[in-house]
Amino acid sequence: MSVLAPMRAFAVDSIRSRVRPGDPAWPSEARWKQLDQDVGGALVKVHSPLDECLHSPSGAECTQLFKAVKNPYFLGEEVGLTQTLGWVDAWTSRPSIYAVAARTANDVVAAVNFARQNNLRLVVKGGGHSYQGTSNAPDSLLVWTRKMNDISLHESFVAEGCNGHATATRAVTVGAGAIWAHVYAAVTTQAGGYVQGGGCMTVGVAGLVQSGGFGSFSKAYGIAAGSLLQAEVVTADGVVRIANACTNPDLFWGLKGGGGGSLGIITRLTLRVHVLPDSFGAVNITIRAVSAPAFRRLIGMIVEFYGQSLMNPHWGEQIRLHTDNVLQIQMVFQGLDRSQAQAVWQPFLDSIDGAQQDFKMEFSPLKIVATSARTFWAPSMLKKVLGFISTDDRPGAPEGNVFWPGDQGQAGQVLHGYQSAWLPAALLRNEQQQAFGDALFAATRHWDVSLHVNKGLAGAPAAAVAAAKDTAMNPAVLDAFALVICGAEGPPAYPGVAGHEPDAAVSGRREAQAIGLAMDELRKVVPNAGSYVSESNFFEANWQQSFWGPNYSRLLSVKAQYDPDGLFFVHHGVGSERWSADGFAKLA
Ligand SMILES: Cc1cc2nc3c(=O)[nH]c(=O)nc-3n(C[C@H](O)[C@H](O)[C@H](O)COP(=O)(O)OP(=O)(O)OC[C@H]3O[C@@H](n4cnc5c(N)ncnc54)[C@H](O)[C@@H]3O)c2cc1C
Repeated sequence: MSVLAPMRAFAVDSIRSRVRPGDPAWPSEARWKQLDQDVGGALVKVHSPLDECLHSPSGAECTQLFKAVKNPYFLGEEVGLTQTLGWVDAWTSRPSIYAVAARTANDVVAAVNFARQNNLRLVVKGGGHSYQGTSNAPDSLLVWTRKMNDISLHESFVAEGCNGHATATRAVTVGAGAIWAHVYAAVTTQAGGYVQGGGCMTVGVAGLVQSGGFGSFSKAYGIAAGSLLQAEVVTADGVVRIANACTNPDLFWGLKGGGGGSLGIITRLTLRVHVLPDSFGAVNITIRAVSAPAFRRLIGMIVEFYGQSLMNPHWGEQIRLHTDNVLQIQMVFQGLDRSQAQAVWQPFLDSIDGAQQDFKMEFSPLKIVATSARTFWAPSMLKKVLGFISTDDRPGAPEGNVFWPGDQGQAGQVLHGYQSAWLPAALLRNEQQQAFGDALFAATRHWDVSLHVNKGLAGAPAAAVAAAKDTAMNPAVLDAFALVICGAEGPPAYPGVAGHEPDAAVSGRREAQAIGLAMDELRKVVPNAGSYVSESNFFEANWQQSFWGPNYSRLLSVKAQYDPDGLFFVHHGVGSERWSADGFAKLA
């Protein structure tokens, strides 16, 4: 009850619509000044660098900006920008009016209180990687956590209030605005441990953990939220709370996979540090089938091979099926050396060799490689020279600002379409393989299909599955062998900037439609599939069910307890059905 008491003080259902600049109730300059003082000068009047382009699209500054947005670190450090610049017919990145560039939990408290007292639309941004546009909102006050990025390791951590209930473990405490590249450097490169984070190194820690969160090796270590031990959170009443298995356990559960920006603002998180395996490795194989029937056969071969030999904690990342009859294996492995990995793949490679009339394997000198796990995320000179890792190219950028080259295409992108679905492991059973293979093949007649096998926990260790079960994520993740993703995007673009307009009419809508047709083929074998909240369709029809399944009602009750007035709103977030699409007007 002590937790509920402060809520009642403001839990009147009084907010009908939030205020915008120009409304009489919009805070006066004096009040903004007071907020600035309360946060020690951390209030920022937000200007988007894109404003310059809107006025002078062919000027040198704008040309330079469209080059700069290909650097995820540049985007991450601009208060007025987001990693994805928009999604055709869905949203466009728009800056807030003001931002609190928070450095402490007290700054966040001041911003939350100010937004609540002045009836403002509040938005939270960490790494800025939301595909759904949930970390930007026009006419809003932004809490920007990027500067809260301290990282500290503990050899023996017990969550507050859990003494006697939990065993001490190695752990890392991370400020909410930290990004995974910097956490991996501290935990793996420097301290020889393993923390379960994201595959993309520039994703924010708090955003990913609240989504559930998958990394390349999640088939071994589970979802990121499964390793969350504790969070410090500012709730809608402006109180700093600790959430863990023993203190505010419902809030803790909701933060694990309930989606960012809905329950409160996390200021720091503590994650379990696991034992690092000796080696990590990668397999890169590209095979072209000479005809559509040969490709259908190839799909059958890889589906069967995956089910028999790869659905276990060693293997993660992607199997990609392309419309031009190409199979691309872009997988990683852990806990195997190179020769063990080679031995796993040999039977499959032999079958391809034995059918040269049907399949052409592209030559690759680095088909199967392995490295010491400790150096996996380290920016060695060799990796840079070989193009295995990219660096922040701004003069004076810190050495540790690195990212995978494969993620660069998404910096500054405009999405054309994006859909995903969890595929149950039952599809790999003998009696279902034919229908599943047919559906995959039919899907590739419309659009490229990627099977992200690290984003489903079938084949993961029991402990990883149990940890994920104790989160708000849709339980569909537990017995899925993969998350299938169909996506399409265009280069950096922005409406109104001549020469850089999003290509909505020609490719945008056509590609979105093709993605829909591809996913419809797959839904024939997985009707009512669940979908991963952070990597899903902006237009997801039955989103409560897709993202959270049977957990949604419990999430709503956590929301009612900690944010009864709906201060925190994001598109398709918990409780958002009570608000207009822009989060400004309460519907009922
Ligand atoms: C290029 C790219 C690669 C990706 N790769 C992966 C991947 O490998 N694995 C994976 O699982 N996902 C991946 N994602 C999805 C990503 O994990 C989610 O979009 C995640 O929510 C991003 O977190 P962020 O902090 O970077 O983003 P933001 O856009 O800043 O935040 C995302 C959401 O969380 C909220 N939020 C942020 N910080 C806080 C906080 N402190 N307290 C409360 N709410 C907060 C925001 O309001 C927003 O609603 C990828 C996305 C992109 C664009």
